[in-house]
Amino acid sequence: NYSPSRMSFNYGGGKTGRVPVGIGPRRLRIVVTGGAGFVGSHLVDKLIGRGDEVIVIDNFFTGRKKNLVHLFSNPRFELIRHDVVEPILLEVDQIYHLACPASPVHYKYNPVKTIISFLITFYIYTLINTNVMGTLNMLGLAKRVGARFLLTSTSEVYGDPLEHPQKETYWGNVNPIGERSCYDEGKRTAETLAMDYHRGAGVEVRIARIFNTYGPRMCLDDGRVVSNFVAQTIRKHPMTVYGDGKQTRSFQYVSDLVALMENDHVGPFNLGNPGEFTMLELAEVVKEVIDTSATIEFKPNTADDPHKRKPDISKAKELLNWEPKISLRDGLPRMVSDFRNRILNEDEGKGL
Ligand code: NAD
Ligand code: UDP
Ligand code: UDP
Repeated sequence: NYSPSRMSFNYGGGKTGRVPVGIGPRRLRIVVTGGAGFVGSHLVDKLIGRGDEVIVIDNFFTGRKKNLVHLFSNPRFELIRHDVVEPILLEVDQIYHLACPASPVHYKYNPVKTIISFLITFYIYTLINTNVMGTLNMLGLAKRVGARFLLTSTSEVYGDPLEHPQKETYWGNVNPIGERSCYDEGKRTAETLAMDYHRGAGVEVRIARIFNTYGPRMCLDDGRVVSNFVAQTIRKHPMTVYGDGKQTRSFQYVSDLVALMENDHVGPFNLGNPGEFTMLELAEVVKEVIDTSATIEFKPNTADDPHKRKPDISKAKELLNWEPKISLRDGLPRMVSDFRNRILNEDEGKGL
């Protein structure tokens, strides 16, 4: 029942496709699902940069070929248009499973109500399907070829947390029937599946709980706060602060995250920057580092918005010897020229 859509080229390195010892440096063959997206494309750059072979699987739901175009002529890089809810046969050493639809926020402002409900229903269906069927397929693949599997989970598994900062041992406070539960519960289910395959089938699993991450190549219009504030400021629009703006988040620059996607422990690990900011403070920093004439406007908040979030990263520090290095003030300016170029470019959104 596998899709015959693509068989990976076998280099004769045995079942896992590794280059045999003795004919050169040992290279890994790695699949990155969602590799055309924001985090995925930075991860792919890092893996290619260290000499691995990378196969990206992406259906371009929110990702863009442009994020990877600089790799198209690299013989160690392959891009497959494929939806992970469908099975796929590949021979690989590692799987980084990032594929997941981004936020539906932009649909909310669509004036045609019937389209809104259709799109939201479609979005929720896709989200759950990707997190459940997509993760299952990638775990099935990992089991068959003996590959290591890394799940990019999220701080959203903690919901609106009652423990602060959040440790990995905290089970979370998620409203199972709320508007954002499809994302939270989808990722919680993906974690459950990963651990079941680990315990039941011996799959070598890694779980990373990623906290709010920002940087170049973020989707311009998926409604996340950093991309919204930066794009609004560049466009000379006011920054939209939801609610009273006193809710907090901790923002991590993308290079700090991709520095640590490989490790020797199952996890889960919180990967985030413990620097905690209210949305009003974030707006102040954007104003300070991007445009001192920037303004803000208040908008109603969305349902079940977590009041605060900040990672306790002692486990990652102790076991992985990792901690983020780039502060918000240092990181924000690094995404401005990419955002400015894309906003100026009329072709934005058309892909390649
Ligand atoms: P993104 O939207 O830029 O990337 C997601 C990618 O997955 C896109 O390229 C999209 O086209 C692809 N995709 C979606 N559904 C797919 C499917 N069914 N089949 C194949 N490809 C599919 O988002 P991102 O910020 O890069 O997030 C990457 C991962 O990290 C996601 O799993 C996300 O949940 C997780 N994460 C991100 C953050 C963050 O702040 N950026 C925080 C926590 C967790
Ligand atoms: N799968 C896949 N590629 C593979 C191996 C499995 O896409 O190389 C899919 C498979 O189609 C199934 C899922 O992964 O839907 C789980 O596979 P597993 O072997 O664990 O379960 P089973 O097929 O026995 O239900
Ligand atoms: N937010 C905001 N203005 C925006 C977008 C988001 O004030 O234009 C707020 C949102 O209400 C939330 C916080 O920023 O409290 C982080 O939102 P985001 O969607 O980026 O991440 P998440 O809620 O998933 O942590």
